[in-house]
Amino acid sequence: MSDKVSLKRSVQNELDAIMPHLKELKDEIGRNPELGSEEYESSSLLVEELRSHGFQVEYPFFEMDTAFKAVYKGMKNGPVIAILCEYDALPGVGHGCGHNIIGTAGIGAGIAVSKLMKGLAGEVWVIGTPAEEGHGPYAGAKVRMASGGVFDGVDVSYMIHPATGKSMVTANFLAVKGVGIEFKGRTAHAAADPHSGVNALNAAMITYMSIHANRQQLRRDANAVIHGIVTEGGLASNIIPDKAVLKFGVRSSDDTYVPTLVDTVVNCAKGAALATGCEVEFTLSNGLKSNIHNKPLEDLFQRVFDELGVEYRDPLELATIPPGGSTDFADVTHVVSGIHPMIGIGGEGYTMHSSDFAGHTLTPEGDKGLEVGAKSLAMASIEILTDPNLLTEIKAEFERNRV
Ligand SMILES: [Zn+2]
Ligand SMILES: [Zn+2]
Repeated sequence: MSDKVSLKRSVQNELDAIMPHLKELKDEIGRNPELGSEEYESSSLLVEELRSHGFQVEYPFFEMDTAFKAVYKGMKNGPVIAILCEYDALPGVGHGCGHNIIGTAGIGAGIAVSKLMKGLAGEVWVIGTPAEEGHGPYAGAKVRMASGGVFDGVDVSYMIHPATGKSMVTANFLAVKGVGIEFKGRTAHAAADPHSGVNALNAAMITYMSIHANRQQLRRDANAVIHGIVTEGGLASNIIPDKAVLKFGVRSSDDTYVPTLVDTVVNCAKGAALATGCEVEFTLSNGLKSNIHNKPLEDLFQRVFDELGVEYRDPLELATIPPGGSTDFADVTHVVSGIHPMIGIGGEGYTMHSSDFAGHTLTPEGDKGLEVGAKSLAMASIEILTDPNLLTEIKAEFERNRV
């Protein structure tokens, strides 16, 4: 039996030993959801666990209270692997994105690999990344980390994410940018004195409909999406509204198309301001990139899924499916080789970002997702730490695909 095969068996045994405790942690975080940038209890539970297994931990990390970086070094210098954790919840639906599974699978994989590091060259890092769902001041934490040099010296980075349906070795993510629009008008009595008013709500309505008028002309090959809401539109029906606020998001699989989509939204709002006599101000978010794929990493996770008996969607079929969501992990794939496999935990008929899915993470299927996720990350890490040719291929692919 080769070294690699026996090490992969050992890392699974290590995970089997701590799995009952990891499941408890997953459920505890799942039952006590904390919004992004406020994940104090969740991050501290994960950090305590890593510390108790001998990791050197920085917490808070990178000027974010709920971020952490945990490092475990091997017998000498070698490949550096960064496993990423998320643990933020959503308003109203708790862990409807299953980040309680991501966090516990990430630390579980890191701990299991650390048990074998005395015989291996390299380092395993576990990085806690807050606010993936975009809530609070740490929103886009991975973007900040990627652009701020956190991944300097890292060779490969990955995380898993639970999903409904079958597993996927990789996923396509859209670039996204947020556009906030605020119209300022002037209040007046809506019936007695309307000619003295400037109606900000009308500007918001015209903006919304002008954006609709552009949808047919959007590039379908670029998977363009524009979505938005009106968050403020007046205080009483007998007052001409002097303030209206809209929040839009524009997305595309082509990062270079995003500025055009932003211009479309901005121009619709400028036109509405001119039409109604309102003033308009814009707030643009930093945005997220689309992800860069890495074929050798995809093949690696496919192998690992096969070994674990995980059913997954055909990667060739996946390439033809338009991407749906966005993640700040995509920015990480622009600075280091990375992959974000999805672990199917069943729950067909449920949708992500729902309380049903949050509840599903606490069932035996959620437990299985945690186990498969942690084992996939741990086994992939063993392959990379023990196979210099594989790492060379992964890094060469990164250099070829980077933009
Ligand atoms: Zn989500
Ligand atoms: Zn998520």
